[in-house]
Amino acid sequence: MFEGLSGRLGDVLERLRGKASLSEDDVKDAMREVRVALLEADVALPVVKDFIGTVRARAVGQDVIKSVTPGQMVIKIVHDALVDMLAGRGGAADADPDDSAGDADAKADDDASAPFALDLNATPPVPILMVGLQGSGKTTTTAKIALRLTRTQRKKVLMASLDVQRPAAQHQLAVLGEQTGVDTLSIVMGQKPVAIAKRAMEEGRKGGYDVVMLDTAGRLHIDDDLMQEVAEVRKVTRPAETLLVTDAMIGQDAVVVATEFHEAVGITGIVLTRVDGDSRGGAALSMRAITGRPIKLMGTGEKMDALEDFQPERIAGRILG
Ligand code: GDP
Repeated sequence: MFEGLSGRLGDVLERLRGKASLSEDDVKDAMREVRVALLEADVALPVVKDFIGTVRARAVGQDVIKSVTPGQMVIKIVHDALVDMLAGRGGAADADPDDSAGDADAKADDDASAPFALDLNATPPVPILMVGLQGSGKTTTTAKIALRLTRTQRKKVLMASLDVQRPAAQHQLAVLGEQTGVDTLSIVMGQKPVAIAKRAMEEGRKGGYDVVMLDTAGRLHIDDDLMQEVAEVRKVTRPAETLLVTDAMIGQDAVVVATEFHEAVGITGIVLTRVDGDSRGGAALSMRAITGRPIKLMGTGEKMDALEDFQPERIAGRILG
């Protein structure tokens, strides 16, 4: 991810780094190039504008031009602004009135010592609801998270598929359960999603499970039925996390999907999948600022262990090389 952006920014900043002194025009030209690089990486325009505005204001405020190592200072300012953009501090995210938990989320994201990006502070069995469009990687991600909770957090996890739309979906989760050694709820044909969710929670309680992962149905498009179903399941299970799974490779469409899901059902975080195939990174860079919700995890491949925490510091480091 970010190959194109990383190369472009690297070139611009490398030129600055070497200069003993910088003119205002040098900084202006560099910012123009950074702007183009971000737009080419498919970052949403308002986010780019915010970012450039932040960097400019900080560069002026810190008297970069007069400093001893002006190039280094600009690079540091760009780095910090990238971290803020990814963590949702400053700029567009602050303008979102819905984002009352924004700062707390951002701090949690930054904390490299945090055991896991997900909030599991609730009475067990803790429900985690997985939502998203069909083909986004929802079922795969459900199993990846379950495996990670089992392996690294020593949690007892039960997975349940609420997807009664596609006959193969419940079976797919059962196969992944066998592959990962994570328990799955038995399949009862003809049962409706809300009834399956209730049965999963009941089984979770009886079986002494720590976490119950609920994989909802995906559709090709966002529609009222899908949202209604998710809302009903949310009502009966009261999940600690409602995670939207969305494909990074669809770029800004991923941000649109996340915004619509958040407005319709309320999501607590985002899992961005297929970042291994996404060279531009626009969705990853715009998501937080536009939706006000944090990207908590990212899928980096088809294998069950290809799941990483989304850490703004580390991502910014990766972009700037
Ligand atoms: P769902 O319809 O949303 O449940 O999607 P699936 O979980 O069935 O995933 C669809 C396809 O995407 C499968 O072939 C997965 O192996 C693949 N997939 C899921 N996540 C990732 C990822 O992070 N990287 C890559 N390369 N493939 C992924």
